[in-house]
Amino acid sequence: MSAPDVVVVGGGLIGTATAWRLAEAGADVTLVVGERSAAASRVAAGMLAPVTETTFTERTLLALNQASSERWPSFSAEVVEASGRPSGLREGPTLSVASDADDGARLRTFADYLDRLGLRHDRLTSRECRALEPLLAPTVRSGLLVPTDWSCDNRVLLEALAVAAERAGVREVTGFVHRVESTDGRVTGATLADGTTLATGRVVLANGAWAAQVDGVPTVPVRPVKGQVLRLDPGRFPGPGMTVRAFSRGNEVYLVPREHGHEVVVGATVEEQGFDHRVTAGGVYELLRDAREVIPMTAEYALAETNVGWRPGTPDNAPILGGCELAGLTLATGHHRNGVLLTPVSADVTAGFVLTGELAEVVTPFTLARFAGPPPAPRLRAVPGARGPEVVR
Ligand SMILES: Cc1cc2nc3c(=O)[nH]c(=O)nc-3n(C[C@H](O)[C@H](O)[C@H](O)COP(=O)(O)OP(=O)(O)OC[C@H]3O[C@@H](n4cnc5c(N)ncnc54)[C@H](O)[C@@H]3O)c2cc1C
Repeated sequence: MSAPDVVVVGGGLIGTATAWRLAEAGADVTLVVGERSAAASRVAAGMLAPVTETTFTERTLLALNQASSERWPSFSAEVVEASGRPSGLREGPTLSVASDADDGARLRTFADYLDRLGLRHDRLTSRECRALEPLLAPTVRSGLLVPTDWSCDNRVLLEALAVAAERAGVREVTGFVHRVESTDGRVTGATLADGTTLATGRVVLANGAWAAQVDGVPTVPVRPVKGQVLRLDPGRFPGPGMTVRAFSRGNEVYLVPREHGHEVVVGATVEEQGFDHRVTAGGVYELLRDAREVIPMTAEYALAETNVGWRPGTPDNAPILGGCELAGLTLATGHHRNGVLLTPVSADVTAGFVLTGELAEVVTPFTLARFAGPPPAPRLRAVPGARGPEVVR
């Protein structure tokens, strides 16, 4: 095999989309996929939800999420064109609802916050909610319609991206990168778990929750955040017509229907359990209970799949993009709860950085450098007989 210009590590949405963008731009790319069946990109619900997913503490991330949201229509069209397959994009709205009085207060507080940010939404009464989504429980008290929060069937997207990448000339290698090789602070290659080394001066680390496991790279503060999700099949029963999110008796649940009507994704638990792969009775119970509280009809659906995935979490819930102290290594990880939404912007910006060395302004707050912190302050100690304290380094 000739030496590739770039080795991309990780065959999830971020790695595959980045490899495609690089190859489209003329680079010779090898994509080491790892194990696609374990990728969060296959487990995710696929909400493209900068508005309903935002929280009071994530203003900087919101701007990036919105930037990616705006790219989705053109990104989707390019994926369809390049792969000859659907992208999975569904341009429907998201309806957030509240079950009881406390949930209603929580939803109102959230809507007030959206008002302050100038984010578009419509407040709905119980009756208006049920006119939009007739499957909702009559107990639903109020709602919030967000027309710009869409969804994407992430499995369909991942398949399309893999085809687009292959057509653009990306070479896929099955296996895992064990170590990034370097000499004098510059990348020289990537060694796989089987001992093969791919010589290259440029590596993109895009292996999601596993980013901290690769040797030879600077410390990346990424940890796995476990999430359990269910896939229900409505069969002969009607499914919801749009994404429904709910505050339900203090819990949060979402139901994301697919275009074809045979799948409703119900999620998700958020668990700090490392790479625990167990689907638990409690996790499944709570998701089914909360889904039924919001849409009673879900009790009739078939339980088609239960899955565990690992969100690549970071200390501030935002991704890590761009370069680092190791020349030739580009980071594209830490996408946490928003990796499907962020795929267009992350892939474009990462490919651009690899090819030009310039980082697009939209992601400058998201480099690894933000975790470096100030150098430790010198400690002072009193020295007998000296005029002032001595500085201890
Ligand atoms: C339950 C759940 C629900 C979610 N819902 C949403 C949602 O609604 N909307 C949204 O935007 N996001 C959602 N997310 C988040 C989203 O799934 C992730 O942020 C995104 O998929 C991360 O993509 P990735 O390509 O970085 O990582 P992954 O998709 O995890 O892919 C990483 C790949 O790298 C491979 N790999 C690992 N180590 C190596 C190695 N050493 N060498 C080579 N390959 C390696 C793995 O096998 C894997 O295939 C959800 C996540 C979970 C878990």
